[in-house]
Amino acid sequence: MTSNKSTGAGAAGTEILNFIGGEYRKGGGRLFENYYPATGQVHAHVHEASREDVDLAVGAAKQALKGPWGRMSVAERLTILRKVADGIQARFDEFLRAEIMDTGKPRSIASHIDIPRGGANFNVFADQIASLSTEAFQSATPDGAGAINYAIRVPRGVIAVICPWNLPLLLMTWKVAPAMAAGNTVVVKPSEETPATAALLGEVMNAAGVPAGVYNVVHGFGADSAGEFLTSHPDVDGITFTGETSTGEAIMRAASNGVRPVSLELGGKNAGIIFNDADLAKAIEGTGRSCFANTGQVCLATERLYVQRGIFEEFCAKLTAQAKSYRFGDPFNPEVTMGPLVSDIHRQKVLGFYEKAKAEGATILCGGGTPDVAGFENGYFVEPTLWTGLPQTSEIVTNEIFGPCAHISVFDDEEEVVGLANNSPYGLATAVWTENLSRAHRVASQIDVGIAWVNSWFLRDLRTPFGGSKKSGIGREGGNHSFEFYTELRNICIKL
Ligand code: NAD
Repeated sequence: MTSNKSTGAGAAGTEILNFIGGEYRKGGGRLFENYYPATGQVHAHVHEASREDVDLAVGAAKQALKGPWGRMSVAERLTILRKVADGIQARFDEFLRAEIMDTGKPRSIASHIDIPRGGANFNVFADQIASLSTEAFQSATPDGAGAINYAIRVPRGVIAVICPWNLPLLLMTWKVAPAMAAGNTVVVKPSEETPATAALLGEVMNAAGVPAGVYNVVHGFGADSAGEFLTSHPDVDGITFTGETSTGEAIMRAASNGVRPVSLELGGKNAGIIFNDADLAKAIEGTGRSCFANTGQVCLATERLYVQRGIFEEFCAKLTAQAKSYRFGDPFNPEVTMGPLVSDIHRQKVLGFYEKAKAEGATILCGGGTPDVAGFENGYFVEPTLWTGLPQTSEIVTNEIFGPCAHISVFDDEEEVVGLANNSPYGLATAVWTENLSRAHRVASQIDVGIAWVNSWFLRDLRTPFGGSKKSGIGREGGNHSFEFYTELRNICIKL
């Protein structure tokens, strides 16, 4: 059952294996197919982990806490983390190919965002943990001798990391890097759609000298598969999850067994707000990216746009022109700017919303169907789509679609648009476009979200708190905030 051969992630006809205790292993579950979204063809077979495999992985992670990893100084751990970052960089092209084959995303995105951030996450959290501090108090005692109280941060233990498919390496390492920096061990369950880069990272971990069992990967699905086996495992000490809100609810239920903490980064239905006084060229460019980047498959994407009446017509016309400027084609071609959706199922879901918008009588500014992509006729492509004219109660305006699309509504004043933007069960992100500084502060602070951008979108400083309010999540990750989840605070009181 054990194999140390390369994962071969991304190469046609290869098998993607679990990574447990520092070794690649077949799984006791099914062998399932992995599709290249640009062609709809099978490009790899994935070994699903059985309950026993998940047991092995959690056992290896628990054991590793007691081994060299648990005894390592922070400085030694950081040296290893930096080697992991270097290892990703050294094998950049392999990671790039694996990510493109799994997601179909264009090289222009994966080579600028996904893979560089995959490495950067390890360096950023190495920096953060090196300068982490806690509080201390000099305390009075009845006998006058006094006491000192100080807190230390200790690793939480075995962390289950459950990831989505939209930014596979980036979002997985966003959790794995701080977890490891803080001295935890991890068992990762990547999305069944995008298992390749998580598997490939095992080779990098071994080469960087990460002790066996610190980083483990189990493949499979959610319910009644590796996801559920992992989140319900009694030896998992904390669960960090990024994905859909309904899955987050299931994971919270699983975590309640044994009172395990959760960190949840969930869905969104983010509002973009564009005032009459915005710098229109910048607002169009930024809003276009916020709607269409990664084929709209970004949790931070804006799918609800609110544009002030004075610029409504011009804004709609110019954003439509930007939507039409995307170029489909071979994801490996650096000129291509829009890839397919991740799967046929997801394409059916997005096209279902396109049909619903039509049936509800939306004005379709552009798109609404599937494009002809020569040579990629069976790929999961959809057109970038913009609508106007639907009521705020329409599912197009209320539900997360997760495709390259947005509905544009008109508004008249600040108070009205704050109300419209906040009229959502989600609270992940917003982007406000205005040249009026006071208005920018006022509006950004009133939108009930975890992240408000002004005159920008997806401008990320990895030290800042990242997460959502309402149904968009629990907790904040990023910078030192990550260590609030990946460590326990222990107070030590010394009587002098
Ligand atoms: P998903 O919830 O369907 O799946 C995410 C992961 O959970 C997968 O690995 C899946 O196998 C696993 N899973 C499913 N059911 C499970 C269960 N019962 N127990 C344990 N694991 C289970 O999400 P997705 O479709 O992969 O990703 C898209 C969603 O992710 C969107 O809603 C998007 O907004 C959200 N997202 C949020 C953020 C954020 O930071 N807030 C970032 C990216 C994506």
